[in-house]
Amino acid sequence: MSNSDLYDLVIIGGGPAGFTAGLYAARSRMKTLLVERMGFGGQLLTYEKVENYPGFPEGISTFALIELFSSQALRFGLESRNSEVAGLDLDDPIKTVRLADGQLRARTIIIATGCTPKKVGVTGEVELTGRGVSYCAVCDGPFFRDQEVAVIGGGDTAVEEAIYLTRFAAKVYLIHRRDSLRAVRVLQEQVLRNDKIQMVWNSVVTEIHGGPQGVEALTMHNRVSGGTERLPVSGIFVFVGMNPNTGFLPSNLKLDAAGFLVTDQDMACSIPGVFAAGDVRSKSLRQIATAVGDGATAAYNAERYLEAHRGELA
Ligand code: NAP
Repeated sequence: MSNSDLYDLVIIGGGPAGFTAGLYAARSRMKTLLVERMGFGGQLLTYEKVENYPGFPEGISTFALIELFSSQALRFGLESRNSEVAGLDLDDPIKTVRLADGQLRARTIIIATGCTPKKVGVTGEVELTGRGVSYCAVCDGPFFRDQEVAVIGGGDTAVEEAIYLTRFAAKVYLIHRRDSLRAVRVLQEQVLRNDKIQMVWNSVVTEIHGGPQGVEALTMHNRVSGGTERLPVSGIFVFVGMNPNTGFLPSNLKLDAAGFLVTDQDMACSIPGVFAAGDVRSKSLRQIATAVGDGATAAYNAERYLEAHRGELA
């Protein structure tokens, strides 16, 4: 392999954490490549607008924000490549990044691959995905104009997306398995005063019904009364949490019990020279604001690692 394939830093993932790491590394004159398997932005683009990223008092569209992140980092010389990482070989000081279409060598690596939505795991969910079952309100909400839809979940995502869906749907049932929401208070207040949203408390969806034309109804079980009800809806939006995108990682990288990457406060993983940033990391708060902090910290410490190990990484 030629030395043009050898990078000081390879960043995997083109979301807020990855691009912030790229900005810091490129400004520090590290030869840095960011690899992204889809379009820049990843999971962020499944939301329409961000209201809690500082500096934008009126909020900003996620599309505009990722455009700003990427153009700023690329301006300082960050390289990017559109490819899927198939695996990593991390045993030697110089690591190998195996891509779907080739391989690269890296002195340091930052994993910023984020998360993907969890499935609720009921009959009909997989079969009807794309025909009424959705994990992205921005992508699919407009298909449900003047129809009745259900949202499953009680966290920030479920509540935000239920509110978003009221732009299109005639009615949104927000089905939550407990009697209080996990979402932050400001979102709870918004959802509870929205006339188009009907809360369905203490209920779990047990089956999704439909056919070739799409979703027709769901069955839900009330955990307090013990009753079962069939609810006719044409769309079901599932927001029950996230799974970290770690399937391509070798088994000797330490994960927590839920499968998120364990790091120290410098964002260093359990293998020297490997760092993690953003939602894929084991931590308490997954936000754009925390992802960018992780990205900056990871890039700074990747550079320090490089300086300290110059000899063996030549
Ligand atoms: P989350 O906070 O993990 O919430 C998942 C929700 O789904 C919980 O209410 C949970 O119920 C419910 N749930 C989980 N498994 C279920 C199942 N099998 N059946 C029915 N319900 C189930 O996930 P999230 O809302 O996607 O948020 C992920 C992270 O992103 C969080 O840290 C969140 O703060 C952050 N986020 C922030 C913003 C923002 O700040 N604007 C927006 C979106 C997301 P229980 O409550 O009973 O556990």
